[in-house]
Amino acid sequence: MKAMQISSFIAGEYVGVGGRNAFENINPADGSVISHVIEASADDVDRAVQAAKRALKGPWGRLSVPERARLLEKVAARIEERFDEFLAAEVADTGKPVTLASHLDIPRGAANFRAFASVIESAPTKGFTMRGPTGGDVINYSLRTPKGVIAVVCPWNFPLLLMTWKVAPALSCGNTVVVKPSEETPSTASLLGDVMREVGIPDGVYNVVHGFGPNSAGEYLTSHPLVDAITFTGECKTGEAIMRAAAAGTRPVSFELGGKNAGIVFADCNMEKAVDTTVRAIFMNAGQVCLHTERVYVERPFFEEFTAKVSARAKALKPGQPHDKSTTIGPLISAEHRKKVLGYYQKAAAAGARAHTGGGEFRMEGALAKGFWVEPTVWTGLDDGAAINREEIFGPCAHFSPFDSDDEVVARANDSDFGLAAMVLTENLTRAHRIAGQLEAGTCWINSWFLRDLRAPFGGAKRSGIGREGGVHSLEFYTELKNVCVPI
Ligand code: NAD
Repeated sequence: MKAMQISSFIAGEYVGVGGRNAFENINPADGSVISHVIEASADDVDRAVQAAKRALKGPWGRLSVPERARLLEKVAARIEERFDEFLAAEVADTGKPVTLASHLDIPRGAANFRAFASVIESAPTKGFTMRGPTGGDVINYSLRTPKGVIAVVCPWNFPLLLMTWKVAPALSCGNTVVVKPSEETPSTASLLGDVMREVGIPDGVYNVVHGFGPNSAGEYLTSHPLVDAITFTGECKTGEAIMRAAAAGTRPVSFELGGKNAGIVFADCNMEKAVDTTVRAIFMNAGQVCLHTERVYVERPFFEEFTAKVSARAKALKPGQPHDKSTTIGPLISAEHRKKVLGYYQKAAAAGARAHTGGGEFRMEGALAKGFWVEPTVWTGLDDGAAINREEIFGPCAHFSPFDSDDEVVARANDSDFGLAAMVLTENLTRAHRIAGQLEAGTCWINSWFLRDLRAPFGGAKRSGIGREGGVHSLEFYTELKNVCVPI
């Protein structure tokens, strides 16, 4: 099959090749070339930002909230109508099982637009005050206005889902966006450009520039002086680089960064459900989920039994063709990422960890032999200071260790630079709520994992992020709050 070409989308048009560099987009399941991606030049990024700036003042800027909301609903509906195209593109780019992408990635891509159409229409209008403090009648009221041009820089693990999680609220508030998708997963962002055109989103409101980070589209975009705010999901180190770029011009940032999330399993949990939830929390999307659990603390009396049950389930996960509905685990995103994850597998072995299952590469056959597969892995035996217990691995693996008391496990769970998510599994809800309050994490799941209400605040504590998005919390980042004061 001939590899396709993926282009940037600027001012309502796909950009041609015209002297630009191209790079290969690789299918991680089998190493084949899916497409050639035309890298945006600094001039392309400038044109995208200028187009986004102009669009703020065009018809987009004059739409009422209900009119904008109706357009976003149309985007959602059109993603659903073109579901199969989005699904095929996402599965090819990521190699993830079609069962996962069809239940999560693409439906959530559409749901993000519906959710924020609804949020903006029902947004609270509080902030109205009469009679000023200095006597006489003074009215103060608050106006929320769009922030302007938003740079949206995205990772590869849930390309459409995480991109639309930023684009939908940004557009709902009347901003315009320039998206820089991950170089690993460029397809659905470009495809969304076509949807935007089809439903009548004005040119320049949604733009996409393809390329890499440093000295490429990512850096050109985040350092562009006409960008008014930057929203970013990715690694902590990249966040630091983007923060430096944002410092020029003191632009606000919203960051969703890495994690090293703890799961706490008490002996009084519902064992069957706890095993299910833990298996999902470690292995979904081959562990390439910022929220996934890499440190599991199990109450000592049933540590051996619980670890054995999760290990048996991990061993039974089935790698295979992403479109085969019996496949339950996909590959890692790239050869480079596999090298990083296998590096941790080697570090764990060298430090004396016991691998209850996994610990190496999956030896795949046929076409899949060229993909980036690693075994789901469960370790025990290392202390909390080991590299695999402190650094984000972002692969299908976790270390299990026993604990004896609530205070001990809370202290150990909190002993991390990261603070993205935590999971507590127990049937004692008093204990669960107490511990949820003590854990230093942006999200704490009790007897669940990755259960998301898009109106709830989402973000990370400590090094895991800056700010909160979700529901009205997103509106706080994507709007400027203005006070208007008038004596009458
Ligand atoms: P990454 O930081 O390597 O890349 C993310 C994006 O940033 C890519 O588009 C990349 O091209 C761009 N980029 C890289 N360097 C840049 C620079 N100097 N300037 C501007 N842009 C630059 O992250 P990744 O490997 O794509 O994603 C995995 C990471 O994302 C993990 O750490 C994971 O925990 C994190 N993540 C966090 C969340 C969350 O909600 N907190 C969600 C998903 C992923």
